[in-house]
Amino acid sequence: MAGALDLLRHAHANPGVTRAEAAAALGLSSGSATEIMGRLRAARLLGEVAAPSTGRGRPTTVLVAHPQGPLVAVAELTHATWRVTTAAIGGELAPAAVHRHSGGPPRAVLARIRAALDALCAQHGDRVVAVGVSVPGTVRGTTVVQAATLEWRDVDLAVLAPGRPLTVGNDASLAGVAEALRGAARGHPVALHLTVEVGVGGVLLVGGVPALGATGAGGEFGHVPFGDPDLHCPCGARGCWDVTVDGRAMARSLGRPAPADPRAFAGEVLAAARSGDRAARAAVAQAASALGRGVGALLNALDPSVVTLGGLGPDLLASEHFPASVLQAAMVWRRTALPPIVPAELGARGPSIGAAESALAAVLPTLATRR
Ligand SMILES: [Zn+2]
Repeated sequence: MAGALDLLRHAHANPGVTRAEAAAALGLSSGSATEIMGRLRAARLLGEVAAPSTGRGRPTTVLVAHPQGPLVAVAELTHATWRVTTAAIGGELAPAAVHRHSGGPPRAVLARIRAALDALCAQHGDRVVAVGVSVPGTVRGTTVVQAATLEWRDVDLAVLAPGRPLTVGNDASLAGVAEALRGAARGHPVALHLTVEVGVGGVLLVGGVPALGATGAGGEFGHVPFGDPDLHCPCGARGCWDVTVDGRAMARSLGRPAPADPRAFAGEVLAAARSGDRAARAAVAQAASALGRGVGALLNALDPSVVTLGGLGPDLLASEHFPASVLQAAMVWRRTALPPIVPAELGARGPSIGAAESALAAVLPTLATRR
């Protein structure tokens, strides 16, 4: 029979669910649901508020996070910014200010993030039960093994959360986790998520669970050689897809030097293309074609039931060159039965939502047994 952990997970995954709906979904009698809810309330995990009356049946309640319930602290690092926030059961992120950093050695950036996390823990005390971190790089365990845009190698982030459980994930992979649980890939058995920012990263999700390989370092789709074999990638390999789909590719196409901030440069080129600049339109078309070819190849390899695209992805998806390139790369039998390829729904919040989900997933079983 379903127990406290099942009801806790169900309420977390389905914000706004009523007690009656949760009981029906889990096969619980009304009496069992009431008894389990009593335990979860006493453990300060879930609370209940009156559900809006439907005029039918007996009144029920909506399951919500307990007002004094557990929180996870979330830190999100990008190539140029960082922010920290908290999330409760139900997954809602608290508002967060975005701070800029200027790169350089990890120590200074991590010290600022650590101080902000310490301040959150001081504010909320024992309610902060875990920390989740999103980084723009390849992750094994809690170590960033390579973050090309930050020029970091082998940086252990355990320093960010002494004494608390810590989960660290790649930003694009975490955005995929968020899309599978709360966004455009929700309910899909096999989903492929790709984020195009500086390069392209992502993750395959099977039943909502990320397939990240033996050590957690998988999902580096940008370093599959779908690109020009003559081009060197900062990762150390040649021919990477990464350098053909972003602002760096657009700069080459326009005969411009490599941009210091490829993401911002891509934004400028997309804006120029929208206003009719022919050279910018050609640069966008090339990037969209390169993205489409790779997506077509990944459809052949992975057979997802949906593909979600974040970052620059939705802009490139809107180009007429994108679907044509997907079709060229897809095996002929597949061309009449392509899965939906859609913009990600959670946008820039995806990595933080995914980091919160990963941190919470790791501690929910322990929480469900507390009294
Ligand atoms: Zn590479």
